[in-house]
Parts: sequence; structure tokens; C-alpha cells
Amino acid sequence: MSDKSTVKIFGVKFDNVTLDEANQRFITFMSSPRLKTIYTPNPEIVMIANEDPDFKTVLNEGDMVVPDGIGIVLASKAHHLGIKSRVPGIEVMGLMLEYCNRAGKSIYLFGGKPGVAESAAEKIHTKYPNLTIAGVRDGYFDEGQELKILDEINEKKPDIVFVALGAPKQEKWIHRHKKTLNASVAMGVGGALDVWAGNVKRAPLIFRKLGLEWFYRLLKQPSRLGRMMILPKFMIKAIFTKHIEG
Ligand code: UDP
Repeated sequence: MSDKSTVKIFGVKFDNVTLDEANQRFITFMSSPRLKTIYTPNPEIVMIANEDPDFKTVLNEGDMVVPDGIGIVLASKAHHLGIKSRVPGIEVMGLMLEYCNRAGKSIYLFGGKPGVAESAAEKIHTKYPNLTIAGVRDGYFDEGQELKILDEINEKKPDIVFVALGAPKQEKWIHRHKKTLNASVAMGVGGALDVWAGNVKRAPLIFRKLGLEWFYRLLKQPSRLGRMMILPKFMIKAIFTKHIEG
């Protein structure tokens, strides 16, 4: 049924939104009095969540959780669960940046190897000169530095914090600090800063349209093969499980 507002895949609850609806919802988040969280699980993340109940809870407490990854859409199709479309996190981020540019809002980029957030910020600022880069920092730190990092971010008072620490670290970080993070929205963006920085290329449109972005990624970064074996495992599990919502 395509009118379901949420759909569960292996216990991870997705908001059944299109890219445009995700953007509209994000815009409403910007005037909320408390921090709103956005997560974009793909099949790999759903599989991690299946092994890590705390992580599953974190995802399920997200304010907007969108299906990133063709595997989620295919699993939904196979079980007639009605997920409307794939909603790539990087495209949601693009619309959020456009909004920030229109509305003169500020962003903080947190994550990636040293230098990545700086380069991403430069590219973003060139494309969206009317948004403010409140601050950047890399994603490699000791546990003991967490509160200092939180203070640094809060001092800059960004409207949005993009957290690129990879899953499940980024979602858990956002969840841990959601009561004290002084921003309107925090979003886990995985490798998106690497893409913005120009270190990783997004697949050409034809791959994206065919749902083969994962394949392009594998061709470009063969070292991801081990990690990507989780995708066929996800699909096999999705096909052979009778009720995949639970
Ligand atoms: N990363 C980080 N700190 C860490 C681990 C990872 O900042 O402790 C960054 C890493 O440099 C990369 C991003 O997190 O920029 C995760 O990228 P990945 O390709 O895993 O993300 P995906 O888009 O596949 O979720």
C-alpha cells in the first residue's frame, strides 16, 4: 500500500517520503524549538542495526529516516510494502544546502579525514555563497574530546550540523548529544563530505537511474568489496524472510 506513512524493514522504521517530501519536512524542522535528527539508512546500515539493538533504537528515534539505497526499495517491492522511492541522503543534503542558501542559514561540517571538511566547505561555499559555514572539524578524535567538540560546535551556533563519521558512529553521536546540541537539525551524512570535497565521485546519472550506484562505487573503490558483501546478504535475507517488517 503506497499510502503508508512509515514502513519497517527488518525492524528499522522508514518514513515513506519522496525526495521532495523529505525536503518539505526538513523545512518544517528548521522552525522547531528542539533539535531534529535525520538519518539515511541503506541495506548495510539496516544489517548493522540487526546486530546492534541499541543502534536500531537510535535509528527508530530519528525524526526523519529515509531509505537510501536501492536494496531497501527492492526489499519493499518484493514484499509489497509500498516504499515510494529511494531518497539518497546526499540529495537530501543538497536540498538542505539550497534552502540554507536561500534563507541565509549556517552549517557545521563534522567528520571525514583531516582536511576533508575544509575542502567540502570551500566547494559548498562556492556553490552556495549565501549560506554561512559556521565551522568544520575532522572526524577523528578520542572519546575524551567529545564534550570539547560539542562545546566547539555549540559556540558556533550552526543551524544545521552535518555529521560524517560513518554508521553507526554518526547516528550514535547525534543521539548521545541531541539534548545538548545547539542546532535545529543534525543529519548523518556518511561519505557525503568526501563527495563534496571531490575525493569520491558520485556515480554518473545512468548508473543512478538503473539503481547501480553501488556497482559504480565498487568499481571505483574495489577495497569496499568485503564491506559490500553485506548487500547480497541483505537481499537474500529479504527474499527468504516471510515477514520482513519485524
Ligand atoms: N569517518 C570519520 N571518523 C571515523 C570513521 C569514519 O570521520 O572515526 C569518516 C570517513 O573518513 C568517511 C566517513 O566517515 O568520510 C564514512 O564514510 P563511508 O564511506 O563509510 O560512508 P557511507 O557513505 O558508506 O555511509
